[in-house]
Amino acid sequence: MSDSPFQRALARLDEAAAHVEISAEALQRLRHPKSVLTVSIPLRRDDGSLEFFEGYRVHHSDLLGPGKGGLRYHPRVDLEEVKALAFWMSCKCAVMGLPYGGAKGGIAVDPKRLSMLEVERLSRGFIRRIADFIGPETDIPAPDVYTNERIMGWMMDEYSQVVRKRTPAVITGKPVALGGSHGRSGATGYGGYVCIRELAQEQGWKPAETNVAIQGFGNAGQEVARLLFEHGFRIVAVSDSGGGIYREEGLDVPSLIHAKNKRRKLEALYCECSVCEAVSAKEISNKELLELEVDVLIPAALEDVITEENAPDVRAKVVLELANGPTTIEADRILEERGVTVIPDILANAGGVTVSYFEWIQNRSGDYWSEEDVRVRLDARMCAQFRTVLERSREKEISLRMAAYVLALERLSAAAEAMGTARFFNGD
Ligand code: NAD
Repeated sequence: MSDSPFQRALARLDEAAAHVEISAEALQRLRHPKSVLTVSIPLRRDDGSLEFFEGYRVHHSDLLGPGKGGLRYHPRVDLEEVKALAFWMSCKCAVMGLPYGGAKGGIAVDPKRLSMLEVERLSRGFIRRIADFIGPETDIPAPDVYTNERIMGWMMDEYSQVVRKRTPAVITGKPVALGGSHGRSGATGYGGYVCIRELAQEQGWKPAETNVAIQGFGNAGQEVARLLFEHGFRIVAVSDSGGGIYREEGLDVPSLIHAKNKRRKLEALYCECSVCEAVSAKEISNKELLELEVDVLIPAALEDVITEENAPDVRAKVVLELANGPTTIEADRILEERGVTVIPDILANAGGVTVSYFEWIQNRSGDYWSEEDVRVRLDARMCAQFRTVLERSREKEISLRMAAYVLALERLSAAAEAMGTARFFNGD
């Protein structure tokens, strides 16, 4: 088997298909992305020179609705990766019961090499190239790695100029001032928190006795840490690209967030008002963090961090995949054999796309919700889908990951069947 990311994604599909009654035809549909667009984007650099960048947008499936998925700016972006990410979006939207298909896109670029004005010109140039491929009823992009709400605002503005109509619903993750939703930026962390809260309740764990380690302390990692801390869980270790810190008695998360965001450093502090005191903590590497004896390990940074090599050393009882694809297929098998519960990415980090859906509804209706409204609706949906996945996993005696894929396949396959498959046309 080829080792491309898309082929690896299809391997998961085949594994899940063994647990569902799904027609061969429905399965075939999911093996073939619906449409793939490659564009080259000319960028006039600040020094007057001209440079071209490759951009991609893939619609994996529109069985359940218009495409939905992020836009990534990274030097390693290529078509095979974008196809795999679009496939995962089809599954994630299906698991969450959202009326969307899967899509994804990106530009092969290192944005740190560009000035802000160059990033704006590149983003607007990309939208001019893909404008016929996206739209509120066809495909709705959102932010992903190294894209943010400001870039989404530029893109919405550019699309509106191309179609000569103000069209906020073409893209989500915009600034609130440009039609974004309250609660979007913390939504991924919130969704992860709900999964842990529900699991802890199931297992009868007391928050104060539940130790948590988090790899990655950015948007998703900080928010899940903040919420777990606020609800009494003990965050014993966190890390970022520079390494991590560990404190057996637990870390003061608001002070950590303060230090990381103000001083750009991970420091164990205790802050009262603006006065911060250093607290003793042990410096650990990212490798050590993944191998800590904790109840919950949360990878919230990169893909492929739990591999065949380190999976035998993971001592956590539960892994919550807040990052996309942090566990390789081989590592997944090892964790399952060792009885580690993995809450899979397509469920654990789906809070972000769920609030993107809320943003799209608000843009289309013109009725804007309060932060509290968003939180209550997100909580209800995350909770319901977590419970459904848990039930499927118990019913079929399969892992939570397989159960999430099974649920996605059931929903996708019902839509394929409703269109008519060989069974219908042959009159069986
Ligand atoms: P971010 O850029 O805000 O934060 C990433 C964090 O990871 C930073 O703290 C960075 O220092 C750390 N990091 C980078 N390299 C590292 C390394 N080698 N070891 C340890 N830490 C490292 O990104 P984010 O938005 O928090 O996204 C994190 C993950 O969550 C990504 O996989 C992303 O795809 C996934 N995700 C995010 C969202 C969202 O809404 N933010 C939604 C779905 C999935």
